[in-house]
Amino acid sequence: MTYVFDPGEPPSVEIKGEQKRFAVRRIYCVGRNYAAHVKEMGFDAEREPPFFFTKPADAVVANGAPVPYPQRTDNLHHEIELVVAIGRAGRDVSPSGARELIYGYAVGNDLTRRDLQLAARDKGRPWDVGKAFDHSAPVTAIHPVESVGHIERGRIWLSVNGELRQEADVADMIWNVPEIVAELSSLFALAPGDLIFTGTPAGVGRLQRGDRIEGGVGDMDRLVTTIV
Ligand code: MN
Repeated sequence: MTYVFDPGEPPSVEIKGEQKRFAVRRIYCVGRNYAAHVKEMGFDAEREPPFFFTKPADAVVANGAPVPYPQRTDNLHHEIELVVAIGRAGRDVSPSGARELIYGYAVGNDLTRRDLQLAARDKGRPWDVGKAFDHSAPVTAIHPVESVGHIERGRIWLSVNGELRQEADVADMIWNVPEIVAELSSLFALAPGDLIFTGTPAGVGRLQRGDRIEGGVGDMDRLVTTIV
């Protein structure tokens, strides 16, 4: 196959303990999946189920790599999240069969241009400009299921310049991981290379140039990001 321009290598993420990399196909994200975060955003978790949005695959940023402060925003926010990496294709899977699709887990930050997201939300417009911008998906190496098992509980936290901003347990999710994978697979055929950001707990907040962000889930690698 020849192309009129070089398409380059696919976006990819490191795999813990493995030379080969995880080529990213799609990035799905869950919105409003922790009740305390639903409340801080002004909604009622009892009445509105979580939902999905997406980011482009090339929004991934390696752990430790700097993130340039994005264009057209005065209110960049952090959202620490458990990330699920899909390693096997599946469509219309049940929650009990969902784990078979999972290759591993990682820690991600769903960076958000909150001002643009809220402006779009309030006008009933798509969220892309608020969520799907360049460098909007810092993520750690993927920890394969063989080494970390399936992550269904554990501390999820984020600090900015050493100050704790977000802290919860992944067991607090409204839709748990198998439910997310099953629900998503009823909307889209999942395939190896898909990443799913599973939603953020309460405590989201503003970032400035020069901030050093650290976050984690359970015993997985800490995600470290600086805004430059
Ligand atoms: Mn999020």
